[in-house]
Amino acid sequence: MGDGDGPLNVRPASSPRRRFLLPCVLAGLALGGMMYRHHVHCRAHQERVNAMLEEAQCPVQPSGLRSAFSQWPSAGLSSSDKELYVQRLSKAIQLDTVSYDDMYETDPTQAPEDGGDPRWLVHERFNKWKEQEWPLVYTHMQVEYITKYSTILTLPGRDPTLPPVLLMSHQDTVPVQEATVDEWDQPPFSGIVTAPDARGRHWIYGRGALDCKSLLVSELNALERVIRERLERGEDVRGERTVVMSVGFDEEVMGIKGAGNNSLVLQERYGQDSFAFIIDEGSTGIENEYGLKVASLGLSEKGSLGAKIEVDVPGGHASKPPRHTGLGILSLLIAALEAHPNPHTLHSSSLYLRYLTCLAQHAPDMPSDLRKRILDPAQWPALADSLAESDELRAHIGTTMAANVARAGAKTNALPEHSEAIVDSRVGWDDTVADVQARYAVVMKEVAERLNVTLDAWGEKLVDGVEGRGRIHVDLSWPSAGREHAPITPSEGPVWELMAGVVRHVWGENVVVAPKGMIAGTDTNYMKPLSKNIFRFRAVPMDEGENVHTVNERVTDQALFGITQYVYELLVNLEGWRE
Ligand SMILES: [Zn+2]
Repeated sequence: MGDGDGPLNVRPASSPRRRFLLPCVLAGLALGGMMYRHHVHCRAHQERVNAMLEEAQCPVQPSGLRSAFSQWPSAGLSSSDKELYVQRLSKAIQLDTVSYDDMYETDPTQAPEDGGDPRWLVHERFNKWKEQEWPLVYTHMQVEYITKYSTILTLPGRDPTLPPVLLMSHQDTVPVQEATVDEWDQPPFSGIVTAPDARGRHWIYGRGALDCKSLLVSELNALERVIRERLERGEDVRGERTVVMSVGFDEEVMGIKGAGNNSLVLQERYGQDSFAFIIDEGSTGIENEYGLKVASLGLSEKGSLGAKIEVDVPGGHASKPPRHTGLGILSLLIAALEAHPNPHTLHSSSLYLRYLTCLAQHAPDMPSDLRKRILDPAQWPALADSLAESDELRAHIGTTMAANVARAGAKTNALPEHSEAIVDSRVGWDDTVADVQARYAVVMKEVAERLNVTLDAWGEKLVDGVEGRGRIHVDLSWPSAGREHAPITPSEGPVWELMAGVVRHVWGENVVVAPKGMIAGTDTNYMKPLSKNIFRFRAVPMDEGENVHTVNERVTDQALFGITQYVYELLVNLEGWRE
């Protein structure tokens, strides 16, 4: 994953508000009895604008936390804890737990001697290592392995009536491409810890450093710290409310065996909507934008739609081809879809607009023109157009489409009878899967009609073409069948205040905590039935962790301690907290 957004660059525009002001001024100049009517009209208009701005407001920035923060060492961690935490991440990286795409098809519970895929076995080693490395956690928490390798750890609460909280992470990683191994500054599974850089930071290198072994290790470190402190104080190790940790082992290949099955167990055990909140990895963290430190919490994630387009035509010798081969028809369809991009939009409840509003309200160095555009609803459509010029920002304000896979033809001199492509769409917050399907159907229908080729899409016959010309068949591809975007986590109320308060306590009261939507997916997709409050967050400053899914994935020791502190403070603040 990784949608680090880069600097926000949008075209300047002139005359903010003029479009609203001018009619009002003209109306004001109108004579006689008309004046009163226009006055009422302008006031109603202004009220609408105010309501939109109110909805788009940056959320309240809570400060001051309720619990005993003295427990987190104010002078920082002891050098032995620091050493321990760094070595744990290093070791986690060295235990290579790569997921390969084709593992999706295999059953991890099947032993290799019975024909199972031996590549899953690394998780047995990894789980053994976790048990040995965090003995306090594994002694005091209930440990369950679901689907053989995915973990559910439970620290039951003293008060079973309080909704539990869920900490999520995953222990698998994406592979390292063979051809890129030489480009790494340190070998990708070495877990090497560098000498301090100019800012005194040690970098920990390797696949999974950021996605997401640093979160996994930090959650275990935080739980260990909480348990150890309670034992040292002679207290019950249990907190007021139950804490559950769910660790998946196949997030990079859909996550259904790990988080998917963990979720079924948790739903069965606790019921729907039973958790106070859930935290997991995210694709955005703590960035600097226009002189502001902003922590973006992923309050939702986009949906997805995999469309499989198949074209079947009569075959034959390539020496006497029709005007369009099957592959040609497939290409025309893809070209037509690309020529009709999904719409983009910004409105008062758009997550990305609300992120921009936080910048407009708090970032000291934002150009005043841009600030005015963000705070003027009349300019939002034009602003959306400007943002859409950037591929990265467009992904935040609409549904995207990418034709990624195509197969056709077996031989140079033979016409391809069967051609197929998979088009991957990430469904935005203003769309449903059905909206996107309908839009694609309209575009493809036009192509099919022009070519006189039969088209059936999404189970409906749309064009009855000339017999023998061929047939286009469009359906959901497997395994990424259609999925709607996740509900949007509220950015007000006690859960928001706890979350945002902890973030500001850990990274500084000058940090603004802003809503954002995730454009990639996480394992939280499976946990949606469990809570309305899901936060996807990479708890790392942008310059302290780099290169998710690519060469030189790395994270600093400081960043690692920050994640541990964030999880720890969330846990200790649960005492006495009520949602
Ligand atoms: Zn991840």
